[in-house]
Amino acid sequence: MTANDLSWQAIAARRADLGGGFAIARALPSAARRTVGAWCFLDHAGPVRYPPGPGMQVGPHPHIGLQTFTWMIEGEVMHRDTLGNAQVIRPGEVNLMTAGRGIAHSEESIGAHGSVHAAQLWIALPDAQRQCEPAFVHHPQLPVADLDGFRATLLAGSGFGLQSPVALFSPLVGIDLVADSAARTRIELRPDFEHAVLCLRGRARLDGRAIEPGTLHVAAIGRERCEIACDAAAQLLLIGGTPFEEPLLIWWNFVARTGAEIEAAAADWNAGRRFGEVPGTALARVPAPDTAGLRLRARGPG
Ligand code: MN
Repeated sequence: MTANDLSWQAIAARRADLGGGFAIARALPSAARRTVGAWCFLDHAGPVRYPPGPGMQVGPHPHIGLQTFTWMIEGEVMHRDTLGNAQVIRPGEVNLMTAGRGIAHSEESIGAHGSVHAAQLWIALPDAQRQCEPAFVHHPQLPVADLDGFRATLLAGSGFGLQSPVALFSPLVGIDLVADSAARTRIELRPDFEHAVLCLRGRARLDGRAIEPGTLHVAAIGRERCEIACDAAAQLLLIGGTPFEEPLLIWWNFVARTGAEIEAAAADWNAGRRFGEVPGTALARVPAPDTAGLRLRARGPG
């Protein structure tokens, strides 16, 4: 045990239902940790094989003030949005949707028999960008490096001499690590970043401590490296970024600064204003919940 081992804080993910009984593990935000850099939301879906039936079916719903970042590991999901995009996302691909002042989208598993394994993250937009025009970019290919038996995919930011093509508005990193058998590697970290590691599949060790799916391990700024190891096939997600200092209010699918902004977005969505319609989907719109009690959720960064 070293001092470094103590600096990883374990945070249990909680189960949430995306609708239709499709359960995910929500690692961010939590009471113990709201953000890791500008990463402000992390859902781990699957890995799950679903019986003949619809799989993941999330009807049209709106976002403001954030980017949704979808990393597909298994399965295929059709994304549709109010800009008119209809894009299938397949394993090894990233969808980046910049909500800015407002966008809505739907997400539907494709195929009657299949599986889903994905990570969906949100990135809080800084003040200068959070009212920007909405945009959507599909990234079919991300840079990959061989790292001592781990296949490292650079999802966001830079590392291993590579640069992710995903356009971001604050300093962030995202790395997917896959080993098919026992492996061990050291990863250089930026000391001005805070970091988090989530085991997505199998079991692994993070600086000597056993980690498995369902628990997020978070480290404050100041770390310069970490060691990741496994004795059998495993997959992990490493994220990081400079601490996000702007106050954040996260409510339902909205990231904002004030309750009034959230209330306006919810009212606009429920009244059919601002966001437009998602063409091509048969799924029902998801109404915004009642905003009563919203002010209780207002908190600073952390
Ligand atoms: Mn969404």
